[in-house]
Amino acid sequence: MTERKVRVRFAPSPTGPLHIGGVRTALYNYLFAKQHNGDLIFRIEDTDSTRLVETAEDYIIESFNWLGIKFDEGVSYGGNHGPYRQSERRDIYKKYVQQLLDDGKAYYAFDTPEELNKKREEIENFQYDASTRSMMRNSFTMSAEEVKSLIDAGEQYVVRFKIEPGRDVVVDDMIRGKVVINSSILDDKVLYKSADQLPTYHLANIVDDHLMEVSHVIRGEEWLPSAPLHVLLYEAFGWADTMPRFAHLPLLLKPVGNGKLSKRDGDKFGFPVFPLEWHDPKSGQTSMGYREKGYLPEAVINFLALLGWNPGNDKEILSLNEMVELFDLSKCSKNGAKFDYVKAAWFNHQYLMQIPDKDWCPAFDKVLREAGIEATAEQEAEVVRMMKTKVIEYTDGLGNKKKRNISFASDLWPLTQFFFVTPSSYDKEGDKFIRKNWKEGTADEMRQMLSLLNEVSAWTVEGIKAVIDPWAEQTGIKPWNAWRVALVGTGQGPDMYELAAFLGKEEVTKRMNNAIAALG
Ligand code: GLU
Repeated sequence: MTERKVRVRFAPSPTGPLHIGGVRTALYNYLFAKQHNGDLIFRIEDTDSTRLVETAEDYIIESFNWLGIKFDEGVSYGGNHGPYRQSERRDIYKKYVQQLLDDGKAYYAFDTPEELNKKREEIENFQYDASTRSMMRNSFTMSAEEVKSLIDAGEQYVVRFKIEPGRDVVVDDMIRGKVVINSSILDDKVLYKSADQLPTYHLANIVDDHLMEVSHVIRGEEWLPSAPLHVLLYEAFGWADTMPRFAHLPLLLKPVGNGKLSKRDGDKFGFPVFPLEWHDPKSGQTSMGYREKGYLPEAVINFLALLGWNPGNDKEILSLNEMVELFDLSKCSKNGAKFDYVKAAWFNHQYLMQIPDKDWCPAFDKVLREAGIEATAEQEAEVVRMMKTKVIEYTDGLGNKKKRNISFASDLWPLTQFFFVTPSSYDKEGDKFIRKNWKEGTADEMRQMLSLLNEVSAWTVEGIKAVIDPWAEQTGIKPWNAWRVALVGTGQGPDMYELAAFLGKEEVTKRMNNAIAALG
């Protein structure tokens, strides 16, 4: 067999925001396509008009733009296998539904929802299949004339796939190996509905994968149960020879406990499950996004890539190019991957440490503005440089106090307020650091310092140091902690010379005088 060109697709249904699991699916398709010099297609599967959400398509496109995942063809990208939006392909599907009907591989059924419900009540575990067709209103129990006259009279119908029972259907999955399902457990799936003149997901999906020359179907595990039906559809169309190869990716699991990752887990532990902030047009609710939380797209990509796959060494920080090189579908895990949101923050920290300080500014500036602070980009970058390697305390979703590295620009704010806001009070009783470091005689030492600082000609780290260090040496006074109390208001902050240089002479003098007045 000649090698086919690798063509893969990501085919979301625009029923809401893109879930982070969908992003991983798209990413794995991307890595696989790039690795094989193949094509990545972006198809919109919008045949279920009842579940359509108007803003979802744009949201999905914007998400991939932000993440840096580029498609080769598809909605908004163009290409010569279009249109790529299923709602624009109605006529194509009709033709293929007709083919199955003509070949006796599909049939008309006229059962109303009420009739179907009644059967479900009568028969336990009712399933529309070879054993029950004869009880229903369809091409098997009605004459051809009767069927025709009902259709001509405008009666609503569906077209069902005729599943032959008793056959072992093999899904050859690149991750799971051969999965065998007996066709008797499958029902005669609806492929087309006259009511909206649209095919169902299954038919449209198979027809499009065929026409778009898709070579591999890489998708979430939740689609594995549909795969036997899909195999049978390829056969029914006579396309078995060019059937794509399947790879069903492991589920993303809850960070704690069992089961699938859900939005509620995100709410509980404070992490986003969507790439961008999402405004639900129906409920009016807003859900957090990775972008708005302060994640770098590269960090999100790196984190997601390793949820279900690893390159087989201990390397965790991987560029997109490295991932393309190392990615191996057959090495993906069959088991679900626990969604480790603490690790996600860790990845963001790693990536943040690699960018220039000034690149933090837009995000940090937003945080500052929200707190009512205006600062210049230079000041912001300076504060980032001094503070980005600090550790913060936080409370996790289970109420435990923990520590972690600065992982988002917003982490900086609680640690950096004193750069921008003059301490308004000094809590000697409540603050151990102040109690320990502001003693009898401290005020006098601070006064000595003040008069020395007054002499500093160049207000830089070196300039201040040149005056204070010799004085401290000669007198044996160690002013640093008390000076910190005066400038910060407590025991936090960067190197004192750096802080003093940042604040400027006037502000330093003011803060020292305030502390002397307040603490005596
Ligand atoms: N439209 C399906 C979804 O929303 C696509 C499933 C597939 O990739 O076959 O995930």
